[in-house]
Amino acid sequence: MTFTQAIKQIRDLSRDDITGIVSDYVELKRSGNGMKGCCPFHDEKTPSFHVSDQKGIYKCFGCGLGGDAIDFVMRIDGKEFHEVIYQFADRFHITIENSSTGTDKKEPRIPEPIPGLKKVRSEIRKAGLVTVICGDSPTDEIDNKAAVNIPASFTPEEAKALRKFTNRCELVVGEVAWENVRESIKTGLTEGFSVTILSNGQSMDWIYYVTEVAQPERGDIIKLLAAIPDSISRSVYMTEYSNLASQNSEAEVCR
Ligand SMILES: [Zn+2]
Repeated sequence: MTFTQAIKQIRDLSRDDITGIVSDYVELKRSGNGMKGCCPFHDEKTPSFHVSDQKGIYKCFGCGLGGDAIDFVMRIDGKEFHEVIYQFADRFHITIENSSTGTDKKEPRIPEPIPGLKKVRSEIRKAGLVTVICGDSPTDEIDNKAAVNIPASFTPEEAKALRKFTNRCELVVGEVAWENVRESIKTGLTEGFSVTILSNGQSMDWIYYVTEVAQPERGDIIKLLAAIPDSISRSVYMTEYSNLASQNSEAEVCR
């Protein structure tokens, strides 16, 4: 069947099999009408993670996360929607025709957007923050395990993959060129992260970093402000930036 037809069938089958799917990751025990276990998405000792085989959904009353079986695997494995569909197609013995060539049964394996992310995703969830080491930045000051390496600047794919686990990112930009730092901040902001920068052992909000450390052209800062998707937080940042800018220009006058 086609990919679109498979989605519908897989939604139905995975709804009925949610207990089996979640059990591959979480130890569940029968509780009332459903199953219960310790949430894999936050740190807890008393189970508040529920799975309803009747409704085909999971819900954690500790951290609030919930959804269907497809959502669960996307979240826990950091996978894209179509990757989970192919994974479930295997599970349920469904053959998906490849519409583009008609020969291959499966799309080629899509590599992980960030190598090593699988290993650290639970650390990221626990920390509520991901440390993103850009390029060859020195890492001796980084003591947490919730860290990933990216080649130079943050790409939207990398940011989207990390955004599943946290909404805070700290970019480590030791020796990285401003253009790459700018792109990384912009991508982080666009994807809805609250972005801090670790530079020379100091962690600061990106707006302080750009106005006080990087000091790029004003246009660059305006573009970064424009990348903030939420209008309220954008206006807070705009105000903060104009305060910082006026302080800096006063300081120059005094010199
Ligand atoms: Zn939870």
